[in-house]
Amino acid sequence: MANSLGSPYTAAAASASDPKTAAPASFVPPPGRHVKPPAPPSSRWHTHLPEGRFWSQIPAWRDIDEATFLDFRWQGRNSITRPEALLAALQGLASPEFIADAAAGFAHSPMSVRVTPYLLSLVDWSNPYRDPVRRQFIPLASQLKHDHPELVLDSLHEQDDAPVPGLTHRYPDKALFLALDTCPVYCRFCTRSYAVGQDTDMVDKVAINADSSRWEQVFEYIATRPELEDIVLSGGDVYNLPAKHIRQLGERLLSLPNIRRIRYATKGPAVMPQKLLTDHEWVQALVDVVKLGRSLRKDVVLHTHFNHPAEITWITREALGRLAEEGVFIRNQSVLQRGVNDDVDTMRLLCKRLGWVGVHPYYVYIHDLVKGVEDLRTTLAAGIDIEKAVRGATAGFNSPVFVVDTLGGGGKRDAHSYDYYDRETGIAVFSSPNVDPKRQFFFYDPIRELSPEVQRRWADPIERDKMKAHASAKALELKGKR
Ligand code: SF4
Repeated sequence: MANSLGSPYTAAAASASDPKTAAPASFVPPPGRHVKPPAPPSSRWHTHLPEGRFWSQIPAWRDIDEATFLDFRWQGRNSITRPEALLAALQGLASPEFIADAAAGFAHSPMSVRVTPYLLSLVDWSNPYRDPVRRQFIPLASQLKHDHPELVLDSLHEQDDAPVPGLTHRYPDKALFLALDTCPVYCRFCTRSYAVGQDTDMVDKVAINADSSRWEQVFEYIATRPELEDIVLSGGDVYNLPAKHIRQLGERLLSLPNIRRIRYATKGPAVMPQKLLTDHEWVQALVDVVKLGRSLRKDVVLHTHFNHPAEITWITREALGRLAEEGVFIRNQSVLQRGVNDDVDTMRLLCKRLGWVGVHPYYVYIHDLVKGVEDLRTTLAAGIDIEKAVRGATAGFNSPVFVVDTLGGGGKRDAHSYDYYDRETGIAVFSSPNVDPKRQFFFYDPIRELSPEVQRRWADPIERDKMKAHASAKALELKGKR
C-alpha cells in the first residue's frame, strides 16, 4: 500500500544499493572541481509508481483482471453515482462510524456523487480519515466547517461575464467555453458546483447542456470578436464528450481565423486514465485535432488536473505515454487543499512525478470559496510559502505558478502579487488591470485559521465591513507609494 506521499517505498526500503537510485561509483572528478554530492535515494521517489493489481484491495474488485480494469466502459459502468451505493461499497472496508460520518457528509454536500473504481482503489482504507484522495471526493460531516460569510455561489462570477450561455469572456484575448455540465467524477471542491452535476439537496444547478444550438451561439460570438485568440474547452469535463464532439468542437474552433490556441480541459487522466488506453476513437479524435492544429500552425493542448502524487500510477504512465507518442502536450492545474497537498514534500513530489510522466505543472490554485468545502481551504500565506519551497526543486518550466482566482470576477492573479494582505484579518486585496483597472478584488483566508479575537470580529457584520474598508484603504495607500 502507498505511504502518505503516494509512494510504495519507505526511506528504509529505498537503499543506496538500488540500481535505480545509486550514484555512478566510478566517476573521479578532476582535482579542484566541486562535485555536487549524490542526492539521497528519497529524491527519486517520484519515479516509483504504484504497480500491479492495486485495485484488489477492494473486496468487490479482488478478482477483476487487468484487461477488465483497463476497460473504460467497465470503469464507467462500475462508477458509483449514489451515496447509498458508495456507502454499500465501503462495507467491510471502512468502519461503521466512518460510513455514518460519510452518509451525514453527503446530506450537506452541494455536489453530486460520481466516483470511479480506479479512484476508490487509490484510497488507503486503513486510514480513510486522513487519506488525500478520500478527502477530495467523500465528505465527512465530522470534518465540515461553516462556509465563509463572503461566499456566494459562482463566487468567480463566471455567469456575469458570459455574453452567451456557457461562454465566459473576461480576459482580453481568451474565453472559457463550457461545452457540457457533466464529468467522469464529481469533486467536492469544484468551483463550478453552481452548474456541474445533478441538483442536490443543497443546490439547484444552472443547466449547461452539451447542445449544438447553444454551441452555435458560442461560435458566432467568438467569430465576431477578432481579439479572441485562445479558447479553453471545459465544462463539466470534455472526457464526457463523445469522440465526434471532440472532433467537431476542435475543427470548428480551428477554422476560425482569429483562434490560435485551444485547450481541452479534463480531469479524466487523473480519475480514469483507462480511457486513454482503451477508448481508441476518442484518443484518435483528440490526436487528429492536435495534428490539424499543427498543420495550421495553431496550438492544441490538453490541460489536466492532478492534485496528489498518489493519483499517478503505472496506468497513468501508460495512458499519458500514449499521448506523448502522438505529440499531445499536457499541462496540469492543481487545487491547493488542506490535508491533501498543502505541505512542501507532497507538492514537490507531485511536481516531480508529473514531470516524470510527461505532464508540465502549470498552475496551483489557492482553493476558491466554494459552498460546503471550507474544510479544504488553506490560507493565501500557505500557498505563498509552499511555492517558495517548491521553486528550484526542478526546472522552471516544470514548476507551477501559484495563483488566486479573485472573488467577483477579477480573474487569476499570482498569489504573491497582492496590493495588500493582512494575515491577521485574513483579507487580501488584488488589482487586475487587464480585467478592470478601477476595481479592487478580494480574497479571504478561512476564518478558523484566524485568532479568536478576529474570528469574533468576522461574526459581527459591522466589524467585518470595517476590516474590509481598512484593507481596501491600505491597498490604495500602498499602491500610491509605488
Ligand atoms: S472534474 Fe472538474 S468540473 Fe468536474 S467536478 Fe471535478 S473539478 Fe468540477
